[in-house]
Amino acid sequence: MNAPIDSITLRGKQMNRLRLIPILSPILMLACASALAQAPASASKPAPTAATKSFDPAAIDKTADPCSDFYQYACGNWVKSNPVPADQTRWARSFSLLHERNLYLLWQELDAAAMDPKTPLQKQYGDYFGACMNTDLVEKKGLAPLDPALKRIAAIKDAHAISALIADLAAQGSPIALFRFETEQDEKDSSQQIVGIGQSGLSLPDRDYYIVDSKRFQEIRKQYLEHVTKMLVLAGDSPEQAAKEAAAVMEIETALAQASTSRVDLRDPEKRYHIYTVADFQKLTPDFDFSLYFKAVKVGKFQTLNVATPNFFKAVNELLDKEPIEAWKSYFRWHTLHASASNLPKAFFDENFAFYGKTLAGQKEPTPRWKQCTMATDNALGEAVGQDWVKKNFPPAAKASMDQLVAALEKALGDDIKTLPWMSEATKKAAEEKLAMIRNKIGYPEKWRDYTALKVERDDLMGNLHREAIFARDWDLGHLGKPVDEKEWGMTPPTVNAYYDPSMNDINFPAGILQPPFFDFTVDPAVNFGGIGVVIGHEMTHGFDDEGSKYDGKGNLREWQTAEDRKAFTERTDCEVKEYSGFEAAPAHGDVPAQMLKGDLTLGENTADNGGLRIAYMALLDTLKEQGKSINDKIDGYSEAQRYFLGFAQVWCQNQTEQSARQSALTDPHSPGQWRVNGTVQNFDEFGKAFGCKQGQPMMPATSCRVW
Ligand SMILES: [Zn+2]
Repeated sequence: MNAPIDSITLRGKQMNRLRLIPILSPILMLACASALAQAPASASKPAPTAATKSFDPAAIDKTADPCSDFYQYACGNWVKSNPVPADQTRWARSFSLLHERNLYLLWQELDAAAMDPKTPLQKQYGDYFGACMNTDLVEKKGLAPLDPALKRIAAIKDAHAISALIADLAAQGSPIALFRFETEQDEKDSSQQIVGIGQSGLSLPDRDYYIVDSKRFQEIRKQYLEHVTKMLVLAGDSPEQAAKEAAAVMEIETALAQASTSRVDLRDPEKRYHIYTVADFQKLTPDFDFSLYFKAVKVGKFQTLNVATPNFFKAVNELLDKEPIEAWKSYFRWHTLHASASNLPKAFFDENFAFYGKTLAGQKEPTPRWKQCTMATDNALGEAVGQDWVKKNFPPAAKASMDQLVAALEKALGDDIKTLPWMSEATKKAAEEKLAMIRNKIGYPEKWRDYTALKVERDDLMGNLHREAIFARDWDLGHLGKPVDEKEWGMTPPTVNAYYDPSMNDINFPAGILQPPFFDFTVDPAVNFGGIGVVIGHEMTHGFDDEGSKYDGKGNLREWQTAEDRKAFTERTDCEVKEYSGFEAAPAHGDVPAQMLKGDLTLGENTADNGGLRIAYMALLDTLKEQGKSINDKIDGYSEAQRYFLGFAQVWCQNQTEQSARQSALTDPHSPGQWRVNGTVQNFDEFGKAFGCKQGQPMMPATSCRVW
């Protein structure tokens, strides 16, 4: 939910998700993974988190005017009394508390399995967790687990040896990544599974950190150089040597950043789709022998592949020619240390945390080890751990209720499409066809992934990580050329999140989010529709946002809108880009300018938020009508309409460190809580009516934006 988020891919595909949780599932294991650090196991004892109320009148700031600043009204008291905990960078009323609660429940399973496993599966994940918790052994082993990789790097003689080096490291499961390589559904023929390759290789959260010439980034670059130097000194290099190596790392990463496609451009499917023959791809990077790499990762035969970022590979070739071999050795030495930092002895953890946690994200204390290891085990063996977890935490009745809710939202979106004022009949028909083809996945997989091939050893943390990396890659590359399996999941069952997948045209809701406060049948429908109803509506609308709308119902990149309708659509999305670009993510202070939101980076999520709020409201009206109730009925002094908007807003109450807010504005495709609330309600006139606002007030402007 609240991680420095990369342009997320799942097996190469862009994933649109509701909100991103730091490091809970594999697809979220990104830059912030390194911000986790180790604390002594005794430093913080696991404790259960109380369930969050779906609707909490005490969170409301009654001194605020809902028509001027609805977020302040709905969340003000909560925000005032819930500062960011020391081990977090963002603290959100619904997401963080449920995430913490799920983590605790999962930890109980893992801790019990580590001590007294009852089944082979429990033995496997119990050992994985147990190895991660054994920090005494981590300390004792020192850098020895990385020795083979570091020696292999030190031995290379010239740039021609780099392809063999990367191939060898990959074969051993080492997490070095100059590029990403994985299978994906062909964007233009979603029945085909092909391989895709794309840019990677940076250590700072975004290319902007290397190339933007602001005072803030200059300072961060200076601190980054110091951090790389300190890590290399810890690894045994002299301070002079380490400083030289750090400068080389910076030079190579800066060149890679300059050659990288921006996050905004990567949101455009056409800009990340370039089919090459293997021979033509190899011509982009003649000095890097990809055949060695393909052999090392044991990928099956293929004639063509999707090269998401061709210019990046051309630049890699130029760098191979230009940079001295010593510079490349420094780069790979650094990346080997960096990628494993949170599983190395405490001196490495602490230095890693000081930069990635404290400096970059404003986190005061490291994430406790039990949380780190619970998330790592969920990441590695999620569908093994999840089998036991859902038995306790997701009753079959919950799935049946969810089916009903999804059907109500589908009907509402269908009604919304029918009444859109700007869309032609032909395009409406095509949109309805696409909507009818959306598949729903709820709770957890029908068929669990088989982990028997993954060898786990209780006394070998680094070995487990490397074997798991190979296991996950084998699983992924095993998709090449096979029929698409619609039943596979991209998130583990305890994940507090949801996603829409454009190539699958499906919406996915893990059991982890189908819990209070999102999903709660003890509360009135208005609050439930403001919670999980908006979540469902958000994911469905992703099928029709600026990115999702480029795919048809079968998940193929194909225009189905008329040219005129596409023009009208783009005028409407442009309105949202402009609107959200005017929102502040972090205020100015001293000589540091304010950080504004990027309306183009967040467009898909904002469109989904706006559509979700509207269609969940329509579905609520239908439901109340069926029950013979009115939207104006009052409970505890609030009308059903007011409770709907309050329930929705209170999902997004949050606090965030300034550093994290600035980082998210550049990397997270989601707007922060304040603008997910105020941005959407000011575009929806039912909100103003519910709270008696006057036209022209901030939450009921004279002109507003609407796509769906
Ligand atoms: Zn989303």
